[in-house]
Amino acid sequence: MDEKCGVVGISLTDRDVARPLYYSLYALQHRGQESAGIVTHDGFQQHSHVEMGLVGDAFEEGDLEPLAGSNGIGHVRYPTAGSVDTCCAQPFSVSFKSGSLGLSHNGNLVNTEEIRDELAAMGHAFTSDGDTEVIAHELARNLLEADLVRAVKRTMNRIHGSYSLTIMHDETVLAVRDPQGNRPLCIGELGDGYVVASESAAIDTLGGDLVRDVRPGELVVLDPDGTGYETYQLVESGNTAHCFFEHVYFARPDSVIDGELVYEVRRELGRALWAESGIETDVVMPVPDSGRSFASGYAEAAPESVEFAEGLMKNRYVGRTFIMPTQDEREQAVRLKLNPIRSTVEGKSVTIIDDSIVRGTTSNQLVKLLHDAGAEEVHVRIGAPQIVAPCYMGIDMASREELIAADRSVEEIAAEIEADSLSYLSIDAIAEALGKARADLCLGCVTGEYPYDIEGEQTDREVSRPVIGQPSGADD
Ligand code: AMP
Repeated sequence: MDEKCGVVGISLTDRDVARPLYYSLYALQHRGQESAGIVTHDGFQQHSHVEMGLVGDAFEEGDLEPLAGSNGIGHVRYPTAGSVDTCCAQPFSVSFKSGSLGLSHNGNLVNTEEIRDELAAMGHAFTSDGDTEVIAHELARNLLEADLVRAVKRTMNRIHGSYSLTIMHDETVLAVRDPQGNRPLCIGELGDGYVVASESAAIDTLGGDLVRDVRPGELVVLDPDGTGYETYQLVESGNTAHCFFEHVYFARPDSVIDGELVYEVRRELGRALWAESGIETDVVMPVPDSGRSFASGYAEAAPESVEFAEGLMKNRYVGRTFIMPTQDEREQAVRLKLNPIRSTVEGKSVTIIDDSIVRGTTSNQLVKLLHDAGAEEVHVRIGAPQIVAPCYMGIDMASREELIAADRSVEEIAAEIEADSLSYLSIDAIAEALGKARADLCLGCVTGEYPYDIEGEQTDREVSRPVIGQPSGADD
């Protein structure tokens, strides 16, 4: 099951954690809109509230009160496959002989079936088809035989794929990032406690300070009294596999991920887009909101004769068009969502800038819309390379058949969306803007080669299983 989600965990010294968790879920709402949940521990028992819907709908004022305790974790979820109902909403919580466990997961394992079959043969019963429950059972099993740190390490050596986790074992909050660091995860300091979250914007929302990213393969254990944390480098991997698409589309522009402010990366990508394929039209305009930072960098690099203006107005009350199930609905939704400003486009040649083209619905509709509003030429520039293959690591990218670039050249796509010209950004420009080697990025959706073993797909790694390194805090 692919899941693009947001996770958080907080330990405080002397106040209930439910409210700060609730606010941080708001800050992570863009990472998942299907369900939201919080699990806390008050020193004696676990409390949980998990509901379908946006954070604001999933929680009512009275729901926070029973979530007692100063340690807890939270989750927002948007599944891209699998069942859409409460069975898979998170945090997943369960009690074992080894204690109570709560788990929030962002990412996607690639060997879930194998582990589930093995655990099922040992008598473990599963209530969902999600991979998070499999991680919980595997961890619970290891906790019977080893202390917490060793049990996490054994679990990390068994599960393969993409995961940023926040975990509650009794009242202790833990955070784990997979050995290749596919999804983001960071540590923050509050005046009276510590937080681990998918994105630093959640730490900002709580008035805290970003300490640093959780390192790939690292375990963070927050002190339940909120006074500090310990870290253990449990697994080392030769290369990282940071998801470049987090920087391009998924993360908030005000978050710092792997040391880079997302907004500045997007502006840099915009400048690179001008350098690679800039075209001198009368006007350049962003597709709001996803194209905004790119367009400002692109316009900055363009000559002054190219006017930078808002030419598309967004109706902020319409949800993401991507989540509409049928193609007809998606097309209608683009019109619902975006309306042209005539004075910016009438009689002019315009360039629109967006972060990505997935199915081609948005750009196709926008080109039509702008022509209808009187634009003479409509050029399209995209701040990411062509998306040619699906994502197995947690981002909803549609199936290969639905991807407009899967089997078309750039010229064919331009013709299909009826643009006067179309250019994408190169993969090298992405690596350069992120200051990372291509080998340290997950580029599966733009190359079709993945950093993990995925049945029926190619891998870009010689040794795709993580290499077990020298532990600094546990010895098996
Ligand atoms: P499409 O209309 O299918 O070509 O999708 C492209 C538009 O959706 C762009 O405006 C993107 O900003 C946005 N987008 C890209 N990836 C995703 C995603 N995984 N989920 C939701 N929206 C996306």
